[in-house]
Amino acid sequence: MENVLGLRCINCNKQLDTKPGIYTCPKCGPKDGILDVEYDYAAINRATTRGLVSNSKDNSIFRYLPFLPVNPGTPRPHLRVGWSPFYKPVGLGRSMGMNDLYIKDDGQNPTASLKDRASVIAVIKAVEENSSTIACSSTGNAASSLAGSAAAMGIKTYIFVPGRAPQGKIAQLLVFGANVISVQGSYEDAFRLSAEAIERWGWYNRNAAINPYLVEGKKTVALEIAEQLNWQAPDWVVLSVGDGCTIAGVWKGFMDLYRAGWIDRLPKVAGVQSTGCSPLVDAFLEDRPWHPAAENTLADSIAVGVPRNPEKALRAVRQSGGTMVAVSDDEILAAMRELGRTSGIFGEPAGVTGLAGLKRLVAQGIVGPDEKVVAIVTGNGLKDVKNAIAAAGEPMKVEPSLGELVLQLEQRGLA
Ligand SMILES: *Cc1c(COP(=O)(O)O)cnc(C)c1O
Ligand SMILES: [Zn+2]
Repeated sequence: MENVLGLRCINCNKQLDTKPGIYTCPKCGPKDGILDVEYDYAAINRATTRGLVSNSKDNSIFRYLPFLPVNPGTPRPHLRVGWSPFYKPVGLGRSMGMNDLYIKDDGQNPTASLKDRASVIAVIKAVEENSSTIACSSTGNAASSLAGSAAAMGIKTYIFVPGRAPQGKIAQLLVFGANVISVQGSYEDAFRLSAEAIERWGWYNRNAAINPYLVEGKKTVALEIAEQLNWQAPDWVVLSVGDGCTIAGVWKGFMDLYRAGWIDRLPKVAGVQSTGCSPLVDAFLEDRPWHPAAENTLADSIAVGVPRNPEKALRAVRQSGGTMVAVSDDEILAAMRELGRTSGIFGEPAGVTGLAGLKRLVAQGIVGPDEKVVAIVTGNGLKDVKNAIAAAGEPMKVEPSLGELVLQLEQRGLA
């Protein structure tokens, strides 16, 4: 990895060499000693250019290989991860009163969430470190994406999920052949048990905050947004926040492009949580350290009462001059309907939470109607059909008779 200079602790600033088994700063410990991957931007610019990338026929995150902390020769899963669609849905823009609104639909990944970007890197790093078994704890999507990428490489997985994870995500895990451990407790309980088991059996650790390489996978969503805007940063990027790794990754991606000289300005980043679980939003708005929160939201992917990457997340928002906002579960469901009905894009609750937050930011005048804004849809709606039905309602039930159909349509003013 000539492109990687090393790892730096975000807490004590110490630089460390990349070594197998090093996930966090030994001095600061696994809670505070989160590491950042540092690159040699001159080496990146010797290896590739914007033009070469733009002409690449690799429609996956590996079009950005020199920006990634993996050896180019390591075998990779065959799945197409990344290069997700980037839309300018005019109907949605009109309905939200925005003239330059874009959707990055990361529900269109192999296992239907943005987490695939991190999991594919986890699997490659596990191969590089000769691990045949990977473990993680997850609210659901990290789990199903890891199980998918690992299945593609013939690697065994142990997955710890909280008991409340939606059926769609559990089904994915089982189809991909993971050893699924449904922890009868919170996400925090699942995380703790997985950490103990990883320690006990020495499995490769895909827990997102702990493993510094995963944010590097997640950052590719920012590389793509910049490229899809013709090597330009938008004014705002808006997305949902749970542990905080995704928003940290988005910021890291734009920072890497900026430092490499590929974009000439940086976006503001807005992070959105549910009012039922908003430890990071509260810390940001009240300018104080975060406190653990209850996990009272139907947006299961961001029901994270004890975030694992709080500092990186808050730094991303602050350094970018961005903001954070919390929205109710009703606003999340309304955003799901609005996105679906105006643009044909289907997001899971956490997938559309960014959009719900954007609506608030526009109403508050923080985001202007002419600003260039990208809302990331982080996961697909089919993962959580129960909440989709809660958002959209049941279909009309009709006996197989034209007379009755006419009656029902007339009653609803549809005919
Ligand atoms: C994991 C996830 C998030 C939040 O990412 P964090 O890194 O936990 O902040 C948002 N949306 C979806 C769909 C997710 O799966
Ligand atoms: Zn440290």
